[in-house]
Amino acid sequence: MKSLMFVKPGELRFDEVDEPQILEPTDALVRPIASTTCDLDHHVIADKTPFSTFGPFPLGHECVGRVVAVGEECADFRVGDAVGVAWHIACGTCAQCAIGHPARCLRHGDAQYGLPVNGMWGGTFDELVRVPYADYNLAKLPDGIDPIHLASIGDNLALGWETVMPSVEGITDPKVAVFGGTGSIGLYAVDVAVHCARAHTVYYDDDPVRMDVAARLGADVHDINGKRDKDFHVAVDASCDPDRLRAALVSVVPEGTVNSVGIYFEDVSLPMLALYQRGVNFHNGKGMARPNMTPTLRAVADRTLHPELVTSGIYDWEQIPDVLTGPNAGHKPIFVLGD
Ligand SMILES: [Zn+2]
Ligand SMILES: [Zn+2]
Repeated sequence: MKSLMFVKPGELRFDEVDEPQILEPTDALVRPIASTTCDLDHHVIADKTPFSTFGPFPLGHECVGRVVAVGEECADFRVGDAVGVAWHIACGTCAQCAIGHPARCLRHGDAQYGLPVNGMWGGTFDELVRVPYADYNLAKLPDGIDPIHLASIGDNLALGWETVMPSVEGITDPKVAVFGGTGSIGLYAVDVAVHCARAHTVYYDDDPVRMDVAARLGADVHDINGKRDKDFHVAVDASCDPDRLRAALVSVVPEGTVNSVGIYFEDVSLPMLALYQRGVNFHNGKGMARPNMTPTLRAVADRTLHPELVTSGIYDWEQIPDVLTGPNAGHKPIFVLGD
């Protein structure tokens, strides 16, 4: 089969590799219907991460697909099911998985698709993907919904739910800020904040394309460099920009919550006294995906969410290297694998 390899910054290619096999009775094999980039992948390709020097390795950790084989202990899925695949490798039963932290799985640590960490699991731009603990790591896609726009369900799309919904629980008339910049995550968060949390949602950015999407999703959109409100119950930092992170941290009400999903590979200085005086609950860490995939898919099924508005372009599989290394990759390009 073909596997998309990240070779070095600005260079991707398809390599011919062996197809994965069912190795454990709890495995399933999934053939992608559509795959997409995590916002992080664009930074890998652009030489903005430590991973950018580790090539060649298979890239990609977001896909929806169809189950083509199941191990004999795989009980919840059968051949032909349309599924989303969680981005990380998690057992589903260890002490961390059991409390909803599969990205902290005690058996598999940082293992994931599409980055060279803790073993090689291939990437979701492979033509076939081995999914361990399939009953846990797969989620059935809703009937009657075009699966293509759900390609991000195993990571960024579910992260929209994760960064907003638990943090607004119990708040009447929530007000949510989203600081954009990484690409798609902030936009998925806007969709959740506006339509699931029914929050007054303000989106800050300076990119006209993303700002237009945020406006179509129902946010009040403001230039990041203008005046900003400081009375948000929840702020989502999806920027990967230290200045925007600092702005997010001082934008919340006392004892408000800031969830940061932009990855900072360097130390960032923070206004600690201001955070002390304000009282800020700050979370910075990997998205958990699987526990958030189910409620996200439910909201997609009942048409509460609009992931199709976040999709920046739909392309053929063969176009992956050219589109992703080109000048117009977009914030959420989705690639469709033909039969
Ligand atoms: Zn990711
Ligand atoms: Zn685990």
